[in-house]
Amino acid sequence: MTDACIFCQIIEKKSPATIVFEDERCLAILDIFPANPGHTLVMPKKHYSLLGEVPAEELTHAIEIVQKIGPAVQHAYRSQGYNVLVNNGTAAGQIVPHVHFHLVPRSMNDGKKFELPREQATPPQLAEAADKIKKELSHVKP
Ligand code: AMP
Ligand code: ZN
Repeated sequence: MTDACIFCQIIEKKSPATIVFEDERCLAILDIFPANPGHTLVMPKKHYSLLGEVPAEELTHAIEIVQKIGPAVQHAYRSQGYNVLVNNGTAAGQIVPHVHFHLVPRSMNDGKKFELPREQATPPQLAEAADKIKKELSHVKP
Protein backbone atom coordinates (compact mmCIF):
# COMPACT_ATOMS: atom_id res chain seq x y z
CA MET A 1 0.00 0.00 0.00
CA THR A 2 1.36 3.37 -1.04
CA ASP A 3 -0.53 6.43 0.19
CA ALA A 4 0.33 8.44 -2.92
CA CYS A 5 -1.00 5.75 -5.28
CA ILE A 6 -4.59 6.25 -6.46
CA PHE A 7 -5.03 2.55 -7.24
CA CYS A 8 -3.82 1.57 -3.73
CA GLN A 9 -6.35 4.07 -2.38
CA ILE A 10 -9.07 2.37 -4.45
CA ILE A 11 -7.93 -1.11 -3.35
CA GLU A 12 -8.09 0.05 0.29
CA LYS A 13 -11.59 1.47 -0.40
CA LYS A 14 -10.35 4.94 0.55
CA SER A 15 -11.20 6.28 -2.92
CA PRO A 16 -14.29 5.46 -4.96
CA ALA A 17 -14.26 3.28 -8.06
CA THR A 18 -16.66 1.12 -10.04
CA ILE A 19 -15.50 -2.39 -9.21
CA VAL A 20 -16.39 -5.19 -11.64
CA PHE A 21 -14.36 -8.00 -10.05
CA GLU A 22 -12.44 -8.57 -6.83
CA ASP A 23 -10.69 -11.48 -5.18
CA GLU A 24 -7.99 -11.67 -2.53
CA ARG A 25 -5.16 -10.80 -4.95
CA CYS A 26 -6.72 -8.78 -7.79
CA LEU A 27 -9.11 -5.93 -8.43
CA ALA A 28 -10.80 -4.90 -11.69
CA ILE A 29 -12.35 -1.44 -12.04
CA LEU A 30 -13.84 0.62 -14.84
CA ASP A 31 -11.53 3.25 -16.30
CA ILE A 32 -13.00 6.72 -15.71
CA PHE A 33 -11.61 7.88 -19.09
CA PRO A 34 -12.59 4.88 -21.22
CA ALA A 35 -11.22 4.42 -24.74
CA ASN A 36 -14.49 2.56 -25.38
CA PRO A 37 -17.42 1.85 -23.02
CA GLY A 38 -16.52 -1.08 -20.76
CA HIS A 39 -12.78 -0.23 -20.68
CA THR A 40 -11.61 -2.13 -17.59
CA LEU A 41 -8.39 -2.07 -15.58
CA VAL A 42 -7.15 -5.26 -13.89
CA MET A 43 -4.50 -4.85 -11.19
CA PRO A 44 -2.76 -6.87 -8.51
CA LYS A 45 -3.75 -5.65 -5.05
CA LYS A 46 -0.14 -5.43 -3.95
CA HIS A 47 1.65 -2.31 -5.14
CA TYR A 48 4.21 -2.92 -7.87
CA SER A 49 5.14 -0.11 -10.23
CA LEU A 50 6.40 -2.15 -13.16
CA LEU A 51 5.58 -5.50 -14.72
CA GLY A 52 9.04 -6.92 -14.02
CA GLU A 53 8.56 -6.42 -10.27
CA VAL A 54 5.51 -8.67 -10.00
CA PRO A 55 6.35 -12.15 -8.69
CA ALA A 56 5.60 -14.81 -11.32
CA GLU A 57 2.87 -16.46 -9.26
CA GLU A 58 0.99 -13.16 -8.76
CA LEU A 59 1.40 -12.27 -12.41
CA THR A 60 0.04 -15.65 -13.43
CA HIS A 61 -3.02 -15.05 -11.29
CA ALA A 62 -3.51 -11.56 -12.75
CA ILE A 63 -3.27 -12.98 -16.29
CA GLU A 64 -5.85 -15.62 -15.41
CA ILE A 65 -8.17 -12.80 -14.30
CA VAL A 66 -7.46 -10.94 -17.55
CA GLN A 67 -8.40 -14.14 -19.43
CA LYS A 68 -11.66 -14.30 -17.49
CA ILE A 69 -12.65 -10.63 -17.69
CA GLY A 70 -11.55 -10.03 -21.29
CA PRO A 71 -14.34 -12.12 -22.86
CA ALA A 72 -16.86 -10.71 -20.35
CA VAL A 73 -15.95 -7.17 -21.37
CA GLN A 74 -16.17 -8.16 -25.04
CA HIS A 75 -19.53 -9.91 -24.79
CA ALA A 76 -21.06 -7.24 -22.54
CA TYR A 77 -20.61 -4.80 -25.42
CA ARG A 78 -21.29 -7.29 -28.24
CA SER A 79 -17.80 -6.50 -29.47
CA GLN A 80 -15.68 -8.61 -31.78
CA GLY A 81 -12.48 -8.46 -29.75
CA TYR A 82 -10.58 -6.60 -27.08
CA ASN A 83 -7.16 -5.07 -26.60
CA VAL A 84 -4.98 -6.03 -23.64
CA LEU A 85 -2.49 -3.27 -22.99
CA VAL A 86 0.17 -2.53 -20.38
CA ASN A 87 1.85 0.86 -20.39
CA ASN A 88 5.08 -0.12 -18.66
CA GLY A 89 7.07 2.94 -17.56
CA THR A 90 6.55 6.67 -18.02
CA ALA A 91 8.16 6.64 -21.48
CA ALA A 92 5.60 4.00 -22.51
CA GLY A 93 2.72 6.21 -21.41
CA GLN A 94 2.22 4.86 -17.88
CA ILE A 95 0.49 7.49 -15.76
CA VAL A 96 -0.53 5.49 -12.68
CA PRO A 97 2.56 3.77 -11.27
CA HIS A 98 0.70 0.66 -10.10
CA VAL A 99 0.86 -2.22 -12.61
CA HIS A 100 -2.44 -2.68 -14.45
CA PHE A 101 -3.82 -4.29 -17.57
CA HIS A 102 -6.15 -2.28 -19.78
CA LEU A 103 -8.96 -4.32 -21.34
CA VAL A 104 -10.65 -2.37 -24.11
CA PRO A 105 -13.61 -3.90 -25.97
CA ARG A 106 -13.26 -3.43 -29.73
CA SER A 107 -15.71 -3.48 -32.58
CA MET A 108 -14.98 -3.41 -36.29
CA ASN A 109 -14.96 0.20 -37.47
CA ASP A 110 -15.16 1.66 -33.95
CA GLY A 111 -12.77 4.32 -35.18
CA LYS A 112 -10.23 3.66 -32.39
CA LYS A 113 -6.59 3.12 -33.28
CA PHE A 114 -3.81 1.79 -31.05
CA GLU A 115 -1.32 1.96 -33.87
CA LEU A 116 2.27 3.13 -33.55
CA PRO A 117 3.86 4.57 -36.68
CA ARG A 118 6.07 1.79 -38.03
CA GLU A 119 8.58 1.27 -40.80
CA GLN A 120 9.64 -2.02 -42.38
CA ALA A 121 13.01 -3.12 -41.00
CA THR A 122 15.86 -4.21 -43.26
CA PRO A 123 17.49 -7.62 -42.61
CA PRO A 124 20.65 -5.94 -41.15
CA GLN A 125 18.46 -3.84 -38.82
CA LEU A 126 16.65 -6.98 -37.64
CA ALA A 127 19.96 -8.78 -37.12
CA GLU A 128 21.37 -5.85 -35.13
CA ALA A 129 18.25 -5.62 -32.94
CA ALA A 130 18.30 -9.38 -32.31
CA ASP A 131 22.00 -9.21 -31.34
CA LYS A 132 21.35 -6.41 -28.85
CA ILE A 133 18.38 -8.17 -27.25
CA LYS A 134 20.12 -11.55 -27.09
CA LYS A 135 23.13 -9.91 -25.46
CA GLU A 136 20.85 -8.47 -22.77
CA LEU A 137 19.11 -11.83 -22.37
CA SER A 138 22.43 -13.58 -21.82
CA HIS A 139 22.73 -11.63 -18.55
CA VAL A 140 19.30 -12.79 -17.37
CA LYS A 141 19.17 -15.78 -15.04
CA PRO A 142 17.05 -18.67 -16.42
P1 AMP B 1 -1.82 4.25 -17.64
O1 AMP B 1 -1.10 4.46 -16.33
O2 AMP B 1 -1.42 5.26 -18.69
O3 AMP B 1 -1.68 2.84 -18.16
O4 AMP B 1 -3.36 4.49 -17.45
C1 AMP B 1 -3.97 4.79 -16.24
C2 AMP B 1 -5.44 4.72 -16.48
O5 AMP B 1 -6.09 4.87 -15.23
C3 AMP B 1 -5.99 5.83 -17.38
O6 AMP B 1 -6.67 5.24 -18.48
C4 AMP B 1 -6.94 6.62 -16.48
O7 AMP B 1 -8.09 7.04 -17.16
C5 AMP B 1 -7.26 5.62 -15.40
N1 AMP B 1 -7.58 6.19 -14.11
C6 AMP B 1 -6.89 7.12 -13.42
N2 AMP B 1 -7.46 7.38 -12.23
C7 AMP B 1 -8.55 6.56 -12.15
C8 AMP B 1 -9.54 6.35 -11.17
N3 AMP B 1 -9.56 7.04 -10.02
N4 AMP B 1 -10.50 5.42 -11.41
C9 AMP B 1 -10.49 4.72 -12.58
N5 AMP B 1 -9.57 4.88 -13.53
C10 AMP B 1 -8.60 5.78 -13.35
ZN1 ZN C 1 -0.46 1.28 -5.73
